[in-house]
Amino acid sequence: MSGSRLMRAIRVSEFGPPSVLKLCADVEVPQPGHRQVLIRVRACGVNPVETYIRSGTHGRRPNLPYTPGTDVAGVVESVGEEVTAVTAGDRVFTTSTVSGGYAEYTVAADDCVHKLPEALDFPQGAAIGIPYFTAYRALIHKAQTKAGETVLIHGASGGVGVAACQLSRALGFRILGTVGTSEGMKVALTNGAHLVFNHREEGYTDKIMEATGGRGVDVIVEMLSNVNLSADLQMLAYGGRVTVVGSRGSIEINPRDTMAKESSIMGVAVFFATPAEKRECAALLYAGMKAGWLRPVVGPLYPLDKAAEAHHDIVESPGAAGKMVLTM
Ligand code: NAP
Repeated sequence: MSGSRLMRAIRVSEFGPPSVLKLCADVEVPQPGHRQVLIRVRACGVNPVETYIRSGTHGRRPNLPYTPGTDVAGVVESVGEEVTAVTAGDRVFTTSTVSGGYAEYTVAADDCVHKLPEALDFPQGAAIGIPYFTAYRALIHKAQTKAGETVLIHGASGGVGVAACQLSRALGFRILGTVGTSEGMKVALTNGAHLVFNHREEGYTDKIMEATGGRGVDVIVEMLSNVNLSADLQMLAYGGRVTVVGSRGSIEINPRDTMAKESSIMGVAVFFATPAEKRECAALLYAGMKAGWLRPVVGPLYPLDKAAEAHHDIVESPGAAGKMVLTM
């Protein structure tokens, strides 16, 4: 592999609107260093956080210029020194990259590279990383959900929501999901939700409470906390936990609502998972891929040169139905 080989990649040279995502045809193919893997990328998941980082409003501000993207699926091209887990030709997916995934090639640290089972195609492989590791972190590492408990997945048809539905079903939780469209409803129901409610409908929280016989839910996986957190506190059962996975602003809550149920609000940040926690999560996800219950649902597909459109659409979505993925 020569360092002078060129590839197509998205580059961000200034923070701003989606139009700052520029497709460049003259980016050097990166070289894998010690314990790094060079991957020929076939698909890369688009995550909402990549739009926040690109806009410059997120706490993380990469050095410019940079290429976004953490969740790729593709084929190992070559490996650096001391890489033993994968070899050239292996189909893989990643949970993080060093050089960015919106590109024809990317380099990733070997502990972020996982073999992709034959049963999953590349877009499905690109839908695993952040969504499934986040869903596991919220449900297990944070909320410590137990079999038999009732989980409300607030935003059950998107990338994290579908992952949370599949994991919850496999682990024996009772699942109530919320979605915004009838297409999203089908996605949630076919991926594990027992009951689904429309979060755009007046009075839907009353229906959720009715479905629990007035008891409330044990755990909420919340994708839009700035809209729902106050109502979430009303929907919790005694000892209930809200996991704040997504939030796009502030909201007023009454702290007394937590006293009444001795409930907890817990923040979730997938990036804080320790290596041991990541290994534990990966072990369960592998079991799910083998058993067949882990099947990422791929929603809209965009070619690499439409990355800016994808960034616009994921934030202004008329209704999520699976994971948004770029293909190369
Ligand atoms: P996505 O695929 O774009 O899905 C967004 C979801 O939010 C959809 O299911 C959508 O439902 C739902 N939603 C929209 N309005 C809602 C409302 N009023 N109440 C409840 N849900 C609503 O995004 P994603 O990848 O699943 O990510 C979801 C959120 O989690 C994003 O804010 C993302 O930044 C965040 N996230 C955080 C972490 C972390 O570590 N904390 C990791 C991954 C993602 P409809 O479209 O059907 O209305």
